[in-house]
Amino acid sequence: ETITNKIAAGEVVERPASVIKELLENSLDAGASDVSVEIAAGGRRLIRITDNGHGMSREDALLSLERHATSKIRTDSDLDGILTLGFRGEALPSIASVSRFRLATREAGSLEGTEIIVEGGRVKDVKACGMAPGTVISVEQLFFNTPARLKFLRSAETETGHVGDTVARMAVSRPEVAFRLASDDREMLRVQRSDLRRRIAQTVGKDAAAALHEVAGTEGGITVTGFISGPQSVRSTTSAMFTYINGRFVRDKVVQHAIMQAYRGVIDRGRYPILALFIELPPGEVDVNVHPTKHEVRFRRQSAVHDALQAALEGVLRRSPW
Ligand code: ADP
Ligand code: MG
Repeated sequence: ETITNKIAAGEVVERPASVIKELLENSLDAGASDVSVEIAAGGRRLIRITDNGHGMSREDALLSLERHATSKIRTDSDLDGILTLGFRGEALPSIASVSRFRLATREAGSLEGTEIIVEGGRVKDVKACGMAPGTVISVEQLFFNTPARLKFLRSAETETGHVGDTVARMAVSRPEVAFRLASDDREMLRVQRSDLRRRIAQTVGKDAAAALHEVAGTEGGITVTGFISGPQSVRSTTSAMFTYINGRFVRDKVVQHAIMQAYRGVIDRGRYPILALFIELPPGEVDVNVHPTKHEVRFRRQSAVHDALQAALEGVLRRSPW
């Protein structure tokens, strides 16, 4: 069991940022409206996520550390209509198998919380604890028992950069949730509950808000909404291009190509737009199950997605001053 979890961890847990992605998804799935992320030494020494979501009972908290114990899928047909971000029931046991792990959680209606300590996949202690409703997960010394994985981690700066990207992607996708990220006690991001336009501007950290144009279009059962800017005047990268399929961040070839097509003749080399685009399609039309850590998806109707996206963007770009 511990070995299986460590093997699964190789799939799910690549680096601190992938731990944070999984834990943030769980917090959002738990209905949190406020999530705080703290890291030390790029997440190698410490990752701590605190949420105000619905928490877990003692029994469910113990169950959550068992492999394939997901509370989100009950039948096979649920798999075709995944609405939550998580569904594999792998993240917690995987992360707990390759770290010194602490889960503290309390349901709103409960008088006390439950604290579980796990070291390298072995439960060391389970006890009652006092805490606010919600969940706090601490991951210390990630990969302490898998030296080969540890060797692949980059510098604290690089890992912190990946964590920042991960939190920004989540923050843009959920403007109604407050997010905070602190690295070595320095605040990197703090955003209040807001709307999408303001959230993009706060997250990207530019005076981008005024230059954002709203996108809204539906074609062939595929809906595209969000905001786009013109190409930025300063040299920019694709890192302010946030694209989501059914609420999940993706970096997909089809999506990227449709954007570049729509902006052809507008984007010069090295001057990319700021954008946040949300593509919604029936869950059965997209396979998000390709790989747990890669931002890839597989579409059933690839060209329909391409066309819907291009049409939605071209509508705005034709009217835009750039
Ligand atoms: P999955 O998200 O695929 O279901 P995980 O291993 O990530 O699997 O989590 C296992 C279960 O633990 C979840 O299904 C959920 O019931 C519970 N859980 C995990 N994190 C939280 C959280 N922050 N708040 C409430 N419940 C949680
Ligand atoms: Mg999960």
